[in-house]
Amino acid sequence: MEKVRLGRTNLIVKKLGWGGIPIQGVGEREGVSVIRAVVEMGVDLLDSARGYTNSEHKIGLALQKVDRPVILSTKSHEKTEKIYDEVHESLRQLNVKKVNIYHLHNVSNFDDYEKVMTPGGAYHGLKRAQKEGLINHICITSHNLNVLERALEDEYFDVIMACYSFLEPDAAKKVFPLAKAKDVGILAMKSFSGGVIEEAGPALRFVLSTPDIVPIPGSETLDKARENWKIFIEGKPLAQQDKERIEVLKKEFNRNFCRRCDYCQPCSEKISIQFILGLKSILKRFGPQAQGLGWMKSLIEKAKNCSECGECLPRCPYQLPIPDLIKENLAWFDGLKNKRKKGK
Ligand code: SF4
Ligand code: SF4
Repeated sequence: MEKVRLGRTNLIVKKLGWGGIPIQGVGEREGVSVIRAVVEMGVDLLDSARGYTNSEHKIGLALQKVDRPVILSTKSHEKTEKIYDEVHESLRQLNVKKVNIYHLHNVSNFDDYEKVMTPGGAYHGLKRAQKEGLINHICITSHNLNVLERALEDEYFDVIMACYSFLEPDAAKKVFPLAKAKDVGILAMKSFSGGVIEEAGPALRFVLSTPDIVPIPGSETLDKARENWKIFIEGKPLAQQDKERIEVLKKEFNRNFCRRCDYCQPCSEKISIQFILGLKSILKRFGPQAQGLGWMKSLIEKAKNCSECGECLPRCPYQLPIPDLIKENLAWFDGLKNKRKKGK
């Protein structure tokens, strides 16, 4: 069973970790039993976030019932020193005295990066938590490879987390070699591109065939967790058949799959384009209760202001028809809401 050293943290973990996004979508009892089974199966790195609603809490409950050591990784979107309070809340939810890896979550652009690194910024809140022994290592998570590249050059972080799948392979060239050279650990999120890819075999064999990284696909059911684990322990290399299937799937998704890179920003109407384009997979992973979340409602309302000015179009390296996709996703969401209403 392959293991990976997470750079200068010197943590040695199995090459397949587990991500805590999808577990939000199932009830507490079911979620706790899935996490427990995942750890008993042999997974030794669990990742969560303050932003994943009840995910930390479920992990905390599950860990009370298993007797195996796990590496805990979690994160907060907080951009100021107040992240120190978020660390305390993570510890309370996870029911532990220390978290191994704590992330600045989704530092999506250079403005955010300046904000977290400046005195009074979140990085300094995490340094305080680290000095007090509440966390061991500080990580930065971003969908923007330019931000991760800068973070690696600055050498403040022990671990980075980047998107990586066959639909989003750029990190393998742009940041993984630099991270390796700087002895920084690499966690790879979105092995299934946020639930867009449904074929576990080619998707997982693709990420698992990349050296030095630890992919962290999540699972809300035991069946899915077992399927992922089986693929990992089989240890088969990426076969010609996988490569051919990947090419077919890439063609299928290339015209409408948003890579969440934010290169299309700024939008004159301040629309979170990547959020709206990823709405289907977000709801799939966060579960139907996410429809009622205040922040989600406000992002959707804002998207209705798209003036179709087209300013974002030339900035998208994948030539996505952004205004059309916004309309399509909003119409899909309205349909979903109406279906729910009728169901009540
Ligand atoms: S077309 Fe819509 S999404 Fe694109 S910049 Fe204009 S308002 Fe924003
Ligand atoms: S629409 Fe294009 S530029 Fe904008 S986040 Fe998605 S892939 Fe990136």
